Amino acid sequence: LGLAACSGGGAGSGEDPTEDGGGEAPAAEDVLVGVSMPTQTSERWIQDGEAVEAGLSDLGYEVDLQFANDDIPTQSQQIDQMITQGADVLIIAAIDGTALTGQLEAAAAADIPVISYDRLIRDSENVDFYVTFDNFQVGVEQATSLLVGLGVLNADGSEGDAAGPFNVELFAGSLDDNNAHFFWNGAMSVLQPYLDDGTLVVPSGQTDIEQAAILRWQQETAQRRMEDLLTAAYSDGTELHGVLAPYDGLSRGIITALQGVGMGPGLTEGLPVVTGQDAEIASVKLIQDDVQFSTIFKDTRLLAEQAIVAAEAFLAGEEPEANDTESYDNGVLVVPSYLLEVEVVTADNITEALVDTGYWTQEEIDAGV
Ligand code: BGC
Repeated sequence: LGLAACSGGGAGSGEDPTEDGGGEAPAAEDVLVGVSMPTQTSERWIQDGEAVEAGLSDLGYEVDLQFANDDIPTQSQQIDQMITQGADVLIIAAIDGTALTGQLEAAAAADIPVISYDRLIRDSENVDFYVTFDNFQVGVEQATSLLVGLGVLNADGSEGDAAGPFNVELFAGSLDDNNAHFFWNGAMSVLQPYLDDGTLVVPSGQTDIEQAAILRWQQETAQRRMEDLLTAAYSDGTELHGVLAPYDGLSRGIITALQGVGMGPGLTEGLPVVTGQDAEIASVKLIQDDVQFSTIFKDTRLLAEQAIVAAEAFLAGEEPEANDTESYDNGVLVVPSYLLEVEVVTADNITEALVDTGYWTQEEIDAGV
């Protein structure tokens, strides 16, 4: 608490009433921020949670950080409790984007602003702001990198030498996560013309998001689906050239399945081009080792920072600044959003993108943990 008192800048240092002209901000040490994260099974959410907690604590706020084990009732209960404890702001990354309507009603009734974190909370008018990455662009970049890996495109986006046809399989995320649809739509906006002109072929025939989806983004489920696809469409010797995977955990499940039937062990020895997302440490190592082709780096430190900027605005009685007021319709309203940019990472730019920025050290990448 002593620390809180002396580090409390921003909204907490409201001695001077002329400052900013905003509403009356409470003293930092009286502020409680509830931070609800979906799970600890994926490392990005641990980093998100810790970065948000650390940033808020540095400003002198009290923080209640909870992870919900990918279990919807657990997340609902944790948020209920934050509201009961008198949270002043809620920052929520939902497991199921449609499952928190009751909690958000209670938050609105108690005048608690709700910031939807990374994943859009749907079907509720009580979502005040959304901080995220450009999720459509994530899909565009994933699909583009699949084409680059296959040689259909060059790294600079120009037409490559390889004409195909190439056999690919498509994976999507959890359908209850709004992002999964954005990733898929972004990817298909790039891939569809190549599917239409026969450059890409999906031998399994599974080209709908419902067929491609992996509930709760589970690695084991992705591995099983890949094994099933291999049995159904490739056991006659049909070659597989690439897999669109929207998240590193899924990518690793897919790679395990591929290696299980003797594909690989690496890209140069015949492992298909597999994409990813989140620059998880185990996948960055696989990319360095030429096993996974690409991932999408989303700097969770910057997202945490934006969530904190938004929280501070609400605490000062102001509206956070949005840079997108069109893209994210949650079914009831278009939620004002702040979108961050993403970056593709392949073996060529691991150092600049991840090491030089301090996201991972080279030692961590070499160890893969
Ligand atoms: C996030 C991704 C993450 C996925 C699985 C999505 O909502 O945007 O970064 O890979 O969830 O956790």
